Amino acid sequence: MFASKPGQVYNSETMRPLSSYGPPKVGGDILAYCSSCKMDLAHVVFSMVDTQPAIIICKTCSSRHRFRRKSPASSQSPKRPRTPVTTVRAAQLWEQKLSECKSSPRSYTPSEKYALAECIQHTKFGVGIIEEVKLSGKIVVLFRDGFHTLIHGTTTNAIPAS
Ligand SMILES: [Zn+2]
Repeated sequence: MFASKPGQVYNSETMRPLSSYGPPKVGGDILAYCSSCKMDLAHVVFSMVDTQPAIIICKTCSSRHRFRRKSPASSQSPKRPRTPVTTVRAAQLWEQKLSECKSSPRSYTPSEKYALAECIQHTKFGVGIIEEVKLSGKIVVLFRDGFHTLIHGTTTNAIPAS
């Protein structure tokens, strides 16, 4: 009495291969990228513009969103210019240090003397934080684009004899 029906399994909606999807139509199925599930999934076409689906509904998460032809991963250029790591780190460190700076920055003049952790305003480099005060009359300042060594306290050309 148990008669098997060949092809029965393949009548199931869920077993239909994704590649067999026909041209898009409202209410029909389409394989598209789901921005919620972050992968290519089966969707139901909710509305169309010309021959292209406009709004689609994800069968997995039921979210309604715009139809995208390509997933973001595949549309990205593989040769993307990379920001140098050192520049990013300097800028991040600079922002962090700047937020810790309580006083308003002093404008930088080579003749003046500066202290450690002081905020200065440089005409070319912008706002910076003094990271190191060297004995040789130099200061190492962290600016947005990185560290710069500047001179300070240059008025004391002649050391007064004591
Ligand atoms: Zn989804």
